[in-house]
Amino acid sequence: MGAHVTRRDFMNGVALTAGAALIPQEMWAAAAADLEGQDAKGYYPPAKTGLRGDHPGAFEAMHRVRDGAFWEDAPKPTDTGESYDLVVVGGGISGLAAAHYFRKAAGNKARILILENHDDFGGHAKRNEFRAGNRTILGYGGTYSIESPAPYSSVSKALIEELGIDVPSYPKYVARDLYRSFGLKPHLFFDKETFGSDKLVVNALQVGGDESGLSDTPGQAEFASFLKAAPLSAKAKQDLQRLVTDDKDHFPGLSSEEKKARLARMSYAKYLAEVVGVGGEIVKLFQAMPHPLFGVGIDAVSAQDIWGFDMPGFAGLKLDPGPGKGMNRDAIRSEEAAKYFFHFPDGNATIARLLVRKLLPVAIPGDSATDVVLAKVDYAKLDAASSSTRIRLNSTVVQVKHVGDSASAKEVEVTYFSGKKVKTVRAANCVLACWHVVIPYIAQELPETQKQALASAQKVPLLYTNVLVCNWTAFQKLNVNSIYSPGMYFTTATLDLPVTIGGYECSKKPDEPIVIHMMKAACRPGRPAREQHKFGRIQLYTTAFETYERNIREQLGRMLGGGGFDSARDILEITVNRWPHGYAYEYNSLFDQFWLEGGEQPCHVARKPFGRIAIANSDADAYAYTDCAIDQAYRAVQELTKK
Ligand SMILES: Cc1cc2nc3c(=O)[nH]c(=O)nc-3n(C[C@H](O)[C@H](O)[C@H](O)COP(=O)(O)OP(=O)(O)OC[C@H]3O[C@@H](n4cnc5c(N)ncnc54)[C@H](O)[C@@H]3O)c2cc1C
Repeated sequence: MGAHVTRRDFMNGVALTAGAALIPQEMWAAAAADLEGQDAKGYYPPAKTGLRGDHPGAFEAMHRVRDGAFWEDAPKPTDTGESYDLVVVGGGISGLAAAHYFRKAAGNKARILILENHDDFGGHAKRNEFRAGNRTILGYGGTYSIESPAPYSSVSKALIEELGIDVPSYPKYVARDLYRSFGLKPHLFFDKETFGSDKLVVNALQVGGDESGLSDTPGQAEFASFLKAAPLSAKAKQDLQRLVTDDKDHFPGLSSEEKKARLARMSYAKYLAEVVGVGGEIVKLFQAMPHPLFGVGIDAVSAQDIWGFDMPGFAGLKLDPGPGKGMNRDAIRSEEAAKYFFHFPDGNATIARLLVRKLLPVAIPGDSATDVVLAKVDYAKLDAASSSTRIRLNSTVVQVKHVGDSASAKEVEVTYFSGKKVKTVRAANCVLACWHVVIPYIAQELPETQKQALASAQKVPLLYTNVLVCNWTAFQKLNVNSIYSPGMYFTTATLDLPVTIGGYECSKKPDEPIVIHMMKAACRPGRPAREQHKFGRIQLYTTAFETYERNIREQLGRMLGGGGFDSARDILEITVNRWPHGYAYEYNSLFDQFWLEGGEQPCHVARKPFGRIAIANSDADAYAYTDCAIDQAYRAVQELTKK
């Protein structure tokens, strides 16, 4: 194996409401008017470019519910007269998996409706599709790959196998030596605003070792060249040299456990500055490294978690191997889990598409996990009255309540908003597979303590951008395959992972078009993680596409200009997937006392079933991974069907 770049590698290896503003009435009405019917001719959301992810038209109604304004001017609900065995709120992997498990338990004739507020199914597992000449080029708009810090459970593994995905076969699809054969390496871009001058340097800070298999681990010689070339002060260079060779015991007299306990209570930024004693330039260099995994910088990630990634500064502490108390689950290494990896060109959107094909074979042609890569979804067939399972897009659920007393009710009424209309359906069971922060607003009959626990699941805001360029000759000239840019708007820019599968051909020659993937974590360093996430969420919702575009063009021009890259000439398309509600919030020893000291986890309170309602989504185990979305769907369905 080893021929993959995991999200963990993006951290090491790339080296290495308060709420949004109140939505004015006219704005949400305009957004609603834009919603197309999924049976309209040519309806094909994966091919849309511009602002995607949580796109305009998807969130305005829910924000009005949050602000208490929705019912002020909403039309009177109309009863569709539809009645289901199960209604699922949220068409992400968790919601689709819940429908799948329910159908297995209740039989193929079970009537199931999935309601999803976006114009596409899959949730974070979003497919971006481009055309360049007569070629289809795919990108992942969110969920990148089958991977997890801990091994997949027997439940989630069984589903992956049932969908026909042969995880161990992955190496045969990835061109692991492609970029290496052109001499491309990860680079670091020093920007003049942060470091005094713009400079692209081979990144020799791959302190965790490069597990990607796409580039070689830098050695001593590369580190020496890095130090020489980096626009850092002499003092900063000395600091960096000292840091990577550091063998001082900074906590003499403490046991390994006591040292880990200290590290769990201080950020890596503080550890670097106050314990190791390096200067601000080095802290800035490392600041954004955890962005891809945590959505915040080293100011809000514990030193213990960073130790888990083999970052420098800990050798002299001689810590016992194995996780300390309060370690983040992402920071705990599992060899078994590391081997379980698969990246499709559209990421885990392929899992969502395979689930939809299982539920509605008429909507997606084909019969294998490879032929699905190029298969076209017939969106008009997703919500056919003749089907027992239906997927209704552009439908924001605004209310879920039992018909009568929750203890004895036989049905739940689900109200949703869709293109200026408010409608109701009824169901014997309901799985809420949507984001937990939404649930207190739509399921108001839940107990207050549960609503508080649900509301604490502040998602991690992220921007995943796909930029289609006509060639990658600038990357070739500069010998670059990925760039870590700690001071820039986007922290990483990476050439697409070269995967050829099911008739889909990745870009193999520098003169061919390719997707550059750029990532930004919207955060505000120096504050507790949840506050940073709130700030970032507002920032992502209130930034116009033009601003994102300007930053993309300027940043790529500055980083790659030396290789002849010209943003005006070379960029063909841009798709900005904004995820103000991105990763599930994972507990953090710096800010969550219960996680450090041992106490009830809010997600356990949040996911309790209530009457005929069960609760899924990756929030339900505070773990931002696909296996969690699947496991929680399975549990939620068990709760409904085993009563
Ligand atoms: C940018 C990004 C990259 C990621 N990369 C990976 C990765 O590489 N590997 C991995 O394992 N995991 C990754 N994840 C984590 C990812 O969240 C999970 O893997 C999984 O896709 C989550 O599925 P879900 O169904 O629980 O949630 P979601 O995918 O968020 O689906 C929930 C759905 O509910 C909908 N919804 C919300 N409110 C309502 C409402 N009122 N009415 C109707 N629908 C509603 C939402 O719009 C959404 O579509 C990534 C996440 C993000 C954001």
